[in-house]
Amino acid sequence: MTRPGGKAAYVYADALSRHVLRDGHPMRPARLRYAYALLDAYGAFEDERAMLVPPRPATVEELTTFHTEEYVEAVRRLSGGEEDAEAGERHGFSANGDNPVYAGMHEAALLSTGASVQAAELIADGAAQAAFAPAGGLHHAMRGWASGFCIFNDPVIAINALRKRGLRVAYIDIDAHHGDGVQAAFYRDADTLTISIHEGGRWLFPGTGAASEIGAGDGAGYSVNLPLFPYTGDDVYLEAFDQIVPPLIEAFAPDVLATQLGADAYANDPLTHLALSAQGYAAVVERLGAMGRPWLAFGGGGYDLDAVPRCWALAYGAMLGREWPDELPEGSDAFLQSPRLRDAAPPPEDPALREKTRAYAQQQAAELRRLVFPAHGLA
Ligand SMILES: [Zn+2]
Repeated sequence: MTRPGGKAAYVYADALSRHVLRDGHPMRPARLRYAYALLDAYGAFEDERAMLVPPRPATVEELTTFHTEEYVEAVRRLSGGEEDAEAGERHGFSANGDNPVYAGMHEAALLSTGASVQAAELIADGAAQAAFAPAGGLHHAMRGWASGFCIFNDPVIAINALRKRGLRVAYIDIDAHHGDGVQAAFYRDADTLTISIHEGGRWLFPGTGAASEIGAGDGAGYSVNLPLFPYTGDDVYLEAFDQIVPPLIEAFAPDVLATQLGADAYANDPLTHLALSAQGYAAVVERLGAMGRPWLAFGGGGYDLDAVPRCWALAYGAMLGREWPDELPEGSDAFLQSPRLRDAAPPPEDPALREKTRAYAQQQAAELRRLVFPAHGLA
């Protein structure tokens, strides 16, 4: 667990949840409002360790620690209707694709990115032992273009803010999609370790994240990818996680653990095929806390509006050292269908499929022990 008595910040304001990317678009910021409402109903923010912090917008100076000035300016102009569709397409935006230009886009992107930087500052200043920015985790954004519902890559920008303060960071990404933008930012860098656990690229966007992508040059061995077979469930996921992640974190000994806590590995997620239960997700998050490092956390994917609030309530509970009762608090039926916080049981698994997911995970873990463990002095 995190240091007893350390504060756990939640960087959030309702302004982060109001925009709509497009009618029918799977990324629905309202999930952030539901996560906040569920935590509030559990009394999370009355906990003596809790700190509810309103976000501030990111600055151009912060954005350009990763993005090009041209891209940052293009996002501002597109949002203000000062650019045509062709200019948008050059930067990854299209009306019917993953990244539509929408009303208030620039302000929303600045605020969610600023929330993540602010969480990083709370950690760097020692004001909090854990800090969660649920609107962040937009790990697909690239240097000069939007990708996969992500405009600015707040994990990279927040990690850069920590690095500027002389802190070494390990990044762990449990979103069902590969954390490709974060990996790309640090691919040649041995000072930042990135680990992504995701559904394999053969089956899911963005198609990358093979175990063989280990970093390059000085950074060889510092990009780590654990791809999983579709329908991988709690036990197989946790077994592979335990073999790979804790030994690497112990060997790397980061000053800060930055984690992307996308909730789309949940079994019912409409965009992905992994099969974690809510308690399986909680078990992963508890393992991150048990690493005992100052803990910066971002949100990320999550497209089942019933699962995201429950998963993130469990995650912030882990940061506070609290276990919420399974019985949902009064009033939460206004935005949740589920009768309980955790699932009654993990999703049923077909035994043959379970063997297949396990064999695949074990094969990938063996590859990682061969390809990246030696760079960390691990056998
Ligand atoms: Zn995702």
